[in-house]
Amino acid sequence: MNRSNLHCPICKKPTQEKFKPFCSKKCSDIDLIRWFSGNYRIASTLQNEKEEKELLNSIKERLDPDPNVR
Ligand SMILES: [Zn+2]
Repeated sequence: MNRSNLHCPICKKPTQEKFKPFCSKKCSDIDLIRWFSGNYRIASTLQNEKEEKELLNSIKERLDPDPNVR
């Protein structure tokens, strides 16, 4: 097996074990955004980091519902 030579599918940097198959949490989130974008057609391009963060927050709310709710 050749697990040490993987590269992040987002930015092509070497994969970090902790964030496999990505190099960082950010790239993992970007991949998530792309997945959601493909499904929900949110936006074809993210104009800036602020927009990206807002989108991320809305996605995270879906993925991590507050355990205190209900
Ligand atoms: Zn990356």
